[in-house]
Amino acid sequence: MKLKPYTIDRGEVTEESGYQFWCRGCDTVHVLRTNAATITDAAGAHKLMHTHDGNFEQPTFSPSYQTEPDAGKRCQLFISEGKLKYQWNCEHELAGQEVDMDHMPTTQGERIALRPFSL
Ligand SMILES: [Zn+2]
Repeated sequence: MKLKPYTIDRGEVTEESGYQFWCRGCDTVHVLRTNAATITDAAGAHKLMHTHDGNFEQPTFSPSYQTEPDAGKRCQLFISEGKLKYQWNCEHELAGQEVDMDHMPTTQGERIALRPFSL
């Protein structure tokens, strides 16, 4: 499985959903938000939303994925037809490279730490 669906539910409302994928450069999962009940976060900033072409083996998402500014290591990439196209501004060894998307490590699938949100 290259994409692992996630949802954040609050009561009867699905607050947010999307997909996790494995980033070899960062050695962790990243999150692509494809649906959200609200379009701004608690601080009022506009939430970035991604579109998915519906393909789970060779997925394409747009726009590019980029880590949050406060996430530590910078990572920016395009996901196109199952390839991760790392941009040169990545702060890891895969900067500028294109690699096949990995399957999610089964032991890592739950490791993601989603940020709490508030109204
Ligand atoms: Zn990354």
